[in-house]
Amino acid sequence: MKILVCNTGSTSLKFKLYEMPGDTVLSQGKVERVGSKADAIFQYQNLKTGFNLKLEQQDIPDYRSGINHYLNCLTAPEGGLLSSIEEVERVGFKTTVSKGHLGVHELTDEVLQGMRDWITIAPLHNPAYIQTIETMREMLPGVIFLGVFETAFHHDIPLHRRLYGVPYEWYENHGVQRLGYHGASHSYIADWLGREYGREYRAISCHLGGSSSICAIENGVSVDTSFGMTLESGLIHANRVGDMDPDIYRFLETEGLSQQEIDDGMTKTGGLLGLSGVSGDLRYVEEAAAQGNTRAQLAIDVFVSGIVHYIGAFYMDLGGLDYLVFTAGIGENSDVVRRLVCEKLAAAGVVLDQEKNQSCKGFGEISEPSSQVKVLVIPTDEELGIARRTFEFER
Ligand code: ADP
Repeated sequence: MKILVCNTGSTSLKFKLYEMPGDTVLSQGKVERVGSKADAIFQYQNLKTGFNLKLEQQDIPDYRSGINHYLNCLTAPEGGLLSSIEEVERVGFKTTVSKGHLGVHELTDEVLQGMRDWITIAPLHNPAYIQTIETMREMLPGVIFLGVFETAFHHDIPLHRRLYGVPYEWYENHGVQRLGYHGASHSYIADWLGREYGREYRAISCHLGGSSSICAIENGVSVDTSFGMTLESGLIHANRVGDMDPDIYRFLETEGLSQQEIDDGMTKTGGLLGLSGVSGDLRYVEEAAAQGNTRAQLAIDVFVSGIVHYIGAFYMDLGGLDYLVFTAGIGENSDVVRRLVCEKLAAAGVVLDQEKNQSCKGFGEISEPSSQVKVLVIPTDEELGIARRTFEFER
């Protein structure tokens, strides 16, 4: 079965075409700077033949045009690999959240309406997703469209860990609860551990990137996560605050800050950027800290402290730990963050192999053989996670 996976960013589109079962990637494509006239970049690859195409300074004014670029390449006489686009049987989308639909769902009008209803929960994501889904549904009639919601993997977190201490009616009537995100990534890590080490294990997956979250996994199932109901929660992110005392909002209003200033601080100029004053990109923050910038070091320390805080709590939830996994942009690349986190976990029997940690390039075991917890760096593959869930879905 040919499955197309689509990952929509605020100004980008990524595609991968899979042959399932077998996890084989046939083709991938990427559009950067969607919405720009004469400055977009389009890339296409046919992995079967090695055909590569990179077009710069393109006019790709909207998602429709970006999608067209990729679909046309798939059936083009030169470099294409499908005789007709109808060979695609299913399209799987990475989707964030939809009212009443938190798992893997066919993208019907009702599910799309749920995404509209909960735009306030994912204001940066849902509008772009709705637009690309609607456009592709129009362009590929007869194909099954599935939304693999980022909340899906966290379905089985026990209720007592999902509930906030709010009036119970808020949960019943409005669905107020911790939903959790980064499901495609954490579930990929859970699958990987299961395949490699067997289904029975206790793990903590640290997805550290532009957005970051920690997930406790028991025997392949998510049992706790650092994200709350919205994406403005949990660890500090590149430029968002993460966990926040809600009354600070009201307090800042009485201090004379406008709503816009407060919103911007929470979602655009907070997080690593706000604390360091340098950047939301950890590479620059690390560079500045190494040169003696104390605020940059402080930002790293706050970030690490949040990670350790959740790992400690989840360690107790799980009743011990077999695997600690670092993944995503920071987790896969920052030996500094991995070292600082692991140094704080000595009480849990974590012993890092400093050399392996420093030389690790994206994948490897970085703990000493004597460590009670195996520490692993595993590159995440969200698209593959989505392709698998899309393939497994039974109508
Ligand atoms: P997103 O969450 O936006 O998908 P990624 O998972 O790709 O992002 O993570 C991006 C982040 O990874 C960058 O902002 C940067 O902070 C971090 N990163 C990438 N490479 C390195 C590196 N070598 N050292 C430290 N941080 C890195």
